[in-house]
Amino acid sequence: MHGKRGVVMGVANDRSIAWAIANACAAQGAELAFTYQGEALGKRVRPLAESVGSDIVLPCDVSDDAAIDATFAEIERIWGKIDFLVHAIGWADKQFLRGRYVDTPRDAFLTAMDISCYSFTAVAKRAAAMMNPGGSMLTLTYLGGERWMPHYNVMGVAKAALEASVRYMAADLGPDNIRVNAISAGPIMTLAANGIGDFRYILRWNQLNAPMERNVTLDDVGGSGLYFLSSLSSGVTGETHHVDCGYHIVGMKNPNAPDI
Ligand code: NAD
Repeated sequence: MHGKRGVVMGVANDRSIAWAIANACAAQGAELAFTYQGEALGKRVRPLAESVGSDIVLPCDVSDDAAIDATFAEIERIWGKIDFLVHAIGWADKQFLRGRYVDTPRDAFLTAMDISCYSFTAVAKRAAAMMNPGGSMLTLTYLGGERWMPHYNVMGVAKAALEASVRYMAADLGPDNIRVNAISAGPIMTLAANGIGDFRYILRWNQLNAPMERNVTLDDVGGSGLYFLSSLSSGVTGETHHVDCGYHIVGMKNPNAPDI
């Protein structure tokens, strides 16, 4: 990754998936710029960025087009060109991440879609305009976009749309030699995951029933992120790649797993 420059969006703290991917890229010599949502998180992100030699740390609320424009204009002013983009952002009102999906009101649906799906399209457009050929964009999704998962509700619907947007953008940007992929990560306890009902039960269920009989780690996802953002995956685009200790292949409960 020496000589490559990437924008990482979605670090909230050192348990963020974005941070794991950033670390893996920095360890291989990438130069990084970070964006954060709101000054409270900015205070956490700045020392993390410094620890990997980055002094480009910019606010960007992805629900605001003007903020996205300003952030990418500033990155373009400093760097000119970029080589990769990490979008590890999702949000839905946690009031609706429990109970029945069918009860989701219109405004909660639209906000979840806006921040968790459309924001990737919005930032990809700005990033593509300043991306070198051979560039790579990566977002994060979850199996709840492919299958029903308890409590995931409107986020599952948003992730399904996000995964579709990955395929459409892969086709749009492929002729410019820019790749677009998603990692579908297994459950990891992060700030965002904390808002999902019964998340500890989901973690335990995955641990017992995944083929590898463990939960995925931040390092697992970081390593796969590095693969997608580097030339090691130069022929891969439009993919939703599961990094979940194999849980996505499971058809029924592991008969050897204890009841929980
Ligand atoms: P996290 O809380 O560390 O990161 C979520 C980030 O989204 C935060 O940095 C937050 O500031 C940002 N964000 C939310 N609304 C925003 C807005 N309007 N503008 C800018 N940023 C905004 O949690 P995480 O688990 O690392 O989440 C990263 C991504 O990974 C999300 O898309 C999430 O859905 C996905 N994911 C998480 C898991 C898991 O189990 N943790 C599994 C699969 C996929």
